[in-house]
Amino acid sequence: MGDRVGSFKKIDESFECANCGKMVPKLNYTSRNHCNNCLYSIHLDDTPGDRASDCRGLMRPIGIDYSAKKGYIIVHKCEKCGAIKRNKAASDDNMSLIIKLSSGETKI
Ligand SMILES: [Zn+2]
Ligand SMILES: [Zn+2]
Repeated sequence: MGDRVGSFKKIDESFECANCGKMVPKLNYTSRNHCNNCLYSIHLDDTPGDRASDCRGLMRPIGIDYSAKKGYIIVHKCEKCGAIKRNKAASDDNMSLIIKLSSGETKI
């Protein structure tokens, strides 16, 4: 009880994607931070999950890294401030888009 300090809260909630308009359901196992349909994100965090950034720019997926341990990592670039962030892909992410991005054949 009363364990929310200041404006910090761990966010795992549904949201409407600012890029494609899809209602993205919450994940339940970790904080959702990008759209599972178009993979766009919003620049909300300085470090993952802290919601400390006031940029709020649209973050475009620019590439995919693959880690044997973590699986697919989506690389996001903020359209507003240019920050680069790496986000682990979620279990229900758009796999065909991830595959396309990882092969470098798609610019979205
Ligand atoms: Zn979207
Ligand atoms: Zn930004």
